[in-house]
Amino acid sequence: MQKAERMKILVVEDDLISRKLLEKTVKGWGHDVITAENGMIAWELFKNEEIKFIIADWMMPEMDGIELCKKIRSLKKSGYIYFILLTGKDKKEDIVQGLEAGADDYVAKPFDVAELKVRIRAGERILNLERELVDKNEELSRLNERLESIARTDPLMEIGNRRAFYETIRKVHHRACRYMQSYGIVMCDIDYFKYYNDTYGHIEGDNLLKRVADAFKSVVRLSDDIFRWGGEEIVVIAQEQDASGTMLVAEKLREIIESLKIEHKTSQKGYLTISCGVAAYNESDKDNRWETILDRADKALYAAKESGRNRVMASDD
Ligand SMILES: [Mg+2]
Repeated sequence: MQKAERMKILVVEDDLISRKLLEKTVKGWGHDVITAENGMIAWELFKNEEIKFIIADWMMPEMDGIELCKKIRSLKKSGYIYFILLTGKDKKEDIVQGLEAGADDYVAKPFDVAELKVRIRAGERILNLERELVDKNEELSRLNERLESIARTDPLMEIGNRRAFYETIRKVHHRACRYMQSYGIVMCDIDYFKYYNDTYGHIEGDNLLKRVADAFKSVVRLSDDIFRWGGEEIVVIAQEQDASGTMLVAEKLREIIESLKIEHKTSQKGYLTISCGVAAYNESDKDNRWETILDRADKALYAAKESGRNRVMASDD
């Protein structure tokens, strides 16, 4: 059972005595009360204040309770507004008319205090449930976003995973085709990583992967464009870069890793290096597929490995 909270209730009633009595009664139950003497004034108040609960008389000058209710229901405001209609009318068809206008409930006049209290409590419960539902929905969409991000991230290196790469490359390629832009792909591989693992153990190997990813993030403009391809391979998308711009990106990646001078006893240099293969797409490309660019970058990487590692090679296609 939810604790009764203080609500702000708008009381709309043209009859002064009745209005004062309602105000005093409802206030006595611990709610804040604002009053209006007809629908028109209430409407103005409603537009400017955060009001979720309205008790309105039916018969009023200027604008009656039915019209007020209809206006409020037609307004696209966030959150539900609970509306109780006060009425001297109690013929069945009158009540139907009130409910059809969008009222949630009605209380006959002169109002019975105990009954009014029960009706307000019922409305309060509905508003509370609605609030909970909104909160739960917000929580759910936050969780969904989180889940979405987890599903796209490599947990060890904290960069995009292969799934994220596919999503991103499709978008980037599509945009490049559409707006006649270019983009590049850098395929990177840690040199002698297997030896590193054999020498320092897998936990150190994992730490190394994390370190390399962090270094990459410090160099690449959008860290969203770095992805773990698998194992010790990282693929970087250089958006809006041509072949020479992408070469520069790759060279920066190679340099940053070399500059860290991470000890690697079982490599040729004695410290950690990487090799990179570069390929770029431009609008004159007849072969209009990102898979081809990726394949060229991969071949260039292979060539970089073959010709001695710790270097960047461009695709010769
Ligand atoms: Mg009246």
